This record gives sequence, C-alpha cells and structure tokens, in this order.
Amino acid sequence: MKKYKITLIKGDGIGPEIIDEAVKVLDAVAACSNFQFSYDEALMGGIAYDVTGDPLPRETIIKSLACDAVLFGAIGGPKWDSLPREKRPESGLLRFRKELGVYANLRPAIVYDELINASSLKPEIIKGVDIMVVRELIGGIYFGEPKGRTEDKGWNTMVYTRSEVVRIAHHAFKIAMTRDKRVCSIDKANVLDVSQLWRDVVTDVSAEYPEVELTHMYVDNAAMQLVLNPKQFDVMLTGNIFGDILSDEASMLCGSIGLLPSASVGDKIGVYEPIHGSAPDIAGQGIANPIATIASASMMLRYALDENEAADKIDAAIKKALSEGYRTGDLAQYDAKEVCSTSEIGSIIANYIQR
Ligand code: NAD
Repeated sequence: MKKYKITLIKGDGIGPEIIDEAVKVLDAVAACSNFQFSYDEALMGGIAYDVTGDPLPRETIIKSLACDAVLFGAIGGPKWDSLPREKRPESGLLRFRKELGVYANLRPAIVYDELINASSLKPEIIKGVDIMVVRELIGGIYFGEPKGRTEDKGWNTMVYTRSEVVRIAHHAFKIAMTRDKRVCSIDKANVLDVSQLWRDVVTDVSAEYPEVELTHMYVDNAAMQLVLNPKQFDVMLTGNIFGDILSDEASMLCGSIGLLPSASVGDKIGVYEPIHGSAPDIAGQGIANPIATIASASMMLRYALDENEAADKIDAAIKKALSEGYRTGDLAQYDAKEVCSTSEIGSIIANYIQR
C-alpha cells in the first residue's frame, strides 16, 4: 500500500472549514484505492502570527519540503490588516511560494454544464469554456525591487529576467501539448519594456513547440476578450499580476469563485489551493463552498502523485453533486434542488466516491 504524506495548511477564515472537506474527500478516495494518506498540519498566515509572531514559521517550510504535496486553504483577514507589511499573512504567503520555488500557478477555468445559469454571461457564450491560465508566480511586480513607501509616494517595480520567462513559457507550452495546442501570451508590450522582453522570450521558446499555435494579446484586450468570447482561449500564459487579475475574472465565467482550484508547482513540492481568499465575511458560518479546495485536492492527485484515476473519481463526484442540484449558498439561486452547508456538500461528494 502506497502512503502519501500531505502537509495541510488550513490558514485563516474559511481555510479550516474547506480543508476539512477536502480531507474528507481524500480519505474517501483513498478508501477505494491502493494508497493511504498521512497528514501533517502546519501554520501559516494570521493564525501563525498569533501563535508564533511570524506569518510563515520556519517549521512550516521544513514540513512542506518534507512531504509529497501541500494542500493549502487560505490566509488573511481584517484582524491582521494593520500589521507592518512583513508581518502580514499575505507576506508569509509570498515568502512561502518563493521558498518552495513554485513558479507556475495553474488555474483551470472550466464551466460546468450543470452551472451554466450561474455565470453572469449568456449560456451560449460560456458553454464549453475550458481555459488553463498559466501564471508566473514568484516574479514580476509582487517581488521586484526597488519598492517602497513614503507619506506621499509608493512604488513597486515589475522585473522579469530571461530565465524566469523561459521557465514559465516552457511550462505553458508543455501543458498546451496535452490540450488544444494553443497558447495566448498576455502582456502589455505596447507600453512596458518588461513586457517586450516577455514577448520576445515567449516567441523564442515557441520555436521548440512547432505544433503549438502562439498568439500574443495585450492584457487590457485580454480582459475584454475573456467576457466577449472566452472559448477562443486554450492556455493563457501570463505574468504574476496580470494572471492574478485575469484568473479572478475567468472564475466568474464559471459562476462562483468558490469553484476554482489551482496548483502552484516548480521544481520541488507543489502547493494545491483554491484561488479564493479566506472570505472573512462568511468564515465560521459553515456556508463556504469547498468545491474549489476539493478540486485542488484532485489536481494534487493528478500533478503531484500521478493518481489520475483517483483524481477522475473526485472530478466525477463533484459533477454528480452539481448535476443532482446540491449547492452551497453562493450558488443557491442557480437550479438548486437542495442548499447545503460546507460540510454537507463535502459529505455528498465523499459518498458519491465511495459508491
Ligand atoms: P476572498 O476571495 O476571500 O472573498 C471574495 C468574495 O468571495 C467574498 O464575498 C467571499 O465571501 C466570497 N468567497 C470566497 N471564497 C468563497 C467560497 N469558497 N465560498 C463562497 N464564497 C466565497 O477575497 P477578499 O475578500 O478580497 O480577501 C479576503 C482575505 O483573503 C484578505 O485578507 C486577502 O488578502 C486574503 N486572500 C488570501 C488568498 C490566499 O490565501 N491565497 C487569496 C486572495 C485573498
């Protein structure tokens, strides 16, 4: 019997609630597979600051580097917003990504037929949408120097090096080879020098993937095209900040931010996490949608553990729960047969797997 060691970082807000449901589903899939999970919890974010004075304790990095994969909830909340920047939960998360070297954030945006009415766009525009956003995660303006703040001025710097762009571009082209073989690279090359470098390097890398069609698009146009005609996209390759924004936009094509998973991968351990934050406005009420986290657990099985059959089982169970009309509150007005709590929908998905 194979044994996989998973580090769980529940974090803040709804983090613990949604991770508990993902664990329930992972245990259900393990019970009908030839592997087992062992879990090790680690602190990050506001909770870690409260307990240790550091939003990213060293022990969390050590535990994360010693496991097969990290399943991550969400961090942050108003309680910690007034802390100095380096003590804030979000700084812990950025450091964490850097320490683990997870340079590629993969964000699938797939419209479930069952939720076609949940999108703010017309069904004929979104039916069949299946986009993979490949976002560079540990470079760009979130990390660039110099940065700073005085009373009257604030500044950040968007920097990319050739090697950083080469690395993420290869990742995007390799993923495109497993899909519809189309990459649309998003930049702002009409204005930014850093984007001109990005465009040149992506074009260079594309020569190694002659089967993949490469197009380039300015980020402002991409934001517009995503709502005008999202089906035109297969793989969207973006830098850090553009991907952050566009993938949230893409999430709303699907109906709720509570549905979308992500994988952050590099050369070491991968981190699997929903794209949403800690939703402090609904934390502790048992109403958060755990599907994004459960789908992230499925991505973990697929990408980190190579357990594709088990991942398929989870994906099928999510679809079944939705097609049977089970919805959390965020999707309650869209063809709901029954409105469920966080824990109820987790149990429904787990039960479908065991059947
Ligand atoms: P958010 O994603 O937490 O919430 C935005 C809105 O979506 C809220 O109305 C929330 O209730 C709703 N929502 C989010 N997830 C949901 C779910 N699973 N089910 C149902 N509804 C859901 O974004 P925000 O409000 O801008 O940020 C809140 C905190 O989260 C901030 O401290 C922010 O820094 C942090 N944050 C953390 C991460 C992360 O941990 N990776 C990502 C984004 C934001």
